[in-house]
Formats: sequence, C-alpha cells, structure tokens
Amino acid sequence: MFKSQQPIPDQYILMSEKERDERICAIKANLGSKLVILGHHYQRDDVIRYADYRGDSLKLAQFAAQEKDAEYIVFCGVHFMAETADMLTSSKQKIILPDLGAGCPMAEMAELEDVEVCWEILKAKYTQEFIPVTYVNSNAEVKAFCGRNGGMTCTSSNAPKIFERLMGEGKSILFLPDEHLGRNTGLQWGLRDQDILLWNRENPEEAELPKDAPRLILWDGYCTVHQKFEPQQVDEVQKKYPGIQVMVHPECSHAVVKKADISGSTDFIIRQISEAPAGSAWAIGTEINLVHRLAQENPDKKIVSLNENTCLCVMMSRISQPHLLWALDNLKEGKVVNQITVDDKIAADAIMALNRMLALSK
Ligand code: SF4
Repeated sequence: MFKSQQPIPDQYILMSEKERDERICAIKANLGSKLVILGHHYQRDDVIRYADYRGDSLKLAQFAAQEKDAEYIVFCGVHFMAETADMLTSSKQKIILPDLGAGCPMAEMAELEDVEVCWEILKAKYTQEFIPVTYVNSNAEVKAFCGRNGGMTCTSSNAPKIFERLMGEGKSILFLPDEHLGRNTGLQWGLRDQDILLWNRENPEEAELPKDAPRLILWDGYCTVHQKFEPQQVDEVQKKYPGIQVMVHPECSHAVVKKADISGSTDFIIRQISEAPAGSAWAIGTEINLVHRLAQENPDKKIVSLNENTCLCVMMSRISQPHLLWALDNLKEGKVVNQITVDDKIAADAIMALNRMLALSK
C-alpha cells in the first residue's frame, strides 16, 4: 500500500522558486560528497536539474552503490526504486525519498500474499517447472519471493535475453507484475497467444487453468501511464506528420507495440533519439517529462508525444522542489527524514533475484 506523507511546512510551498533553488544549491555545496541526488528520467525538470546522476531505476541504484562516500542518497523517483538502492548500498548509507507518497501503482498491483496464492495453485496443478520473473518495477517483497523460488528480476532492456535463456531451456515463466512487458517479450520470443495465460489476481480460485502448463503466465498489473496509449493514436500521429517514426515503451499494450515502428526500454529510446539523424521526426509513447526533455535536448529533430494529454506519471511528480528542499533542510540539521529501508532477510532474497538477472543477462 502507498505510504502517506506528512504535510511539509507551508514555508516550503510559499517561498519563491528562486529561493528554493538557492537553498538547494547551497545545501548541496555544503554537504559535498556526503550527499548524492539521483533523478529518474521521468522526473520533472525543476527537480531533475539537481540530480548528480540521471537514469532508469536499476541504473540509479547501481550509481548509488558506486558512491561509497555518500552518507545520504536522495532518490528522486518512486518507492520501489529507493528500496532497490537501499538493498545495493551499505548499511551506513541512508536512502531518502522526498515524498513518501511517491509509490508506483504497477508495483502495488503485485502483493506478496496474492503472488503466493498463485504460486501454490500452479505448483498443485502442474509438474512443469515455473520460474518466477519480476520486472524491477516491483516491491522488495516480490523480488525476494522470486529470489527464494529460483527466479529473478528483469528490466525492460534485458527481459528479451532472460526469456531467451529460460524459454530456451523449456521452462515456463510466471511474469510479474506487468502484463504488457511480459506479453510483448513473450510474443517477440516466439510464443503464440495460446501459450500465454493472463492471471486474475482478484479471483485466483476461478482461474480456468488449461490441462497443459502455459509457457507464460502474466500477472494482470500494468503501468497507469503507458497503458493509456492506444493504437489509433499511432494512426492519428502518422496522419498528422507524414513520415514520422513511432517509438514506444514495451509497457504499452501489444496492440500499440505492434502498430509502432519500434519499441524499447527508456535507455533504448534515449539512445535512438540521440543517434537519429538531424531532421528526423519521432512520436514517442512514454512518460511526458522524458519526451519533453528529449525534444529540448534534440532541437535538430522533431519530437512529439504520442499522446500529449494523459501520460504524466503523477506519482513520480510527487517529488517536488518543495519536498526536495524540505528533505535537504533536515539533512543540513543532521536529521534524516523519509528514510527507506528494507528488512535484511527480504533484502538477501531480493539480491539473489537481482544477481541471477545480472548473471543471466550478460
Ligand atoms: S511510469 Fe508507470 S511504471 Fe513508472 S513509476 Fe509511473 S506508474 Fe510506475
């Protein structure tokens, strides 16, 4: 469940942006190498500008792990990302999420209790070996479940490699929590629609399981941002800008991915755009802050969003400049607020899942 954030003092909201900016910069300078600020690519401009590192969730956690001198790591992202950073850093380092309400709806759609029910039903029904694979956009408890049960994590970049290995060995996969990344990757590997079963987490007892084990069982979670893109938007943007190329994230539905010219992870999208020739035109189906930033940073290319209206990650946007300054002000006074920690046993199992991913995706 999402945590709640205590209201921060009004002064942080009421002061001018200029004053907030000066104070954030002064605290950063004062704390020096004791402080590292991490900013996810989907973060708003008035926050990401303070990030020492930008990246996707796993990359940011790895940056955190490299920064051994940093006592305080302020994570401008969502809750599960801060958890991963805590698991990969030493016990002396403190991970801080400036707004505790910044949770990821997709991660919250897979709760450990429900996943365990599903697992028991599968084990009772089939002799076929299932491997639980969770997208890194999941809570630490779900990652730990995968670690305990011979499974692993994956990212949107390495999911195809992991499917290749596991499917190639004849195993079946229980994929958590994103239905769309799982379906897109499974179909790309060569599965047929009939090899894939969508789990219903609300009514698991009513699941009509086929006699033979499916090759892929998908959890029915989704990203509330990427799920909003629709196939007809591809038609509309192509009509509006003849010759434009459409690139989408694999968290979009398969119908959208199939219609797009190309799909790939956040890193892939950023790379494609930076390497694209001047004058090329792109409609991008991913979070709007990233699309706007790509447009600003690549003025020689035409970059538009596949859907300007509905693709802001509101949870990520909860990390605002006032919240960032409030967290830093407390650090300046030697007080740590909003620290994110993961229980040692959960962390040990979850790290097993992360390490298996890193070994398999080489
Ligand atoms: S963009 Fe989607 S997956 Fe990422 S944090 Fe927001 S809701 Fe979660």
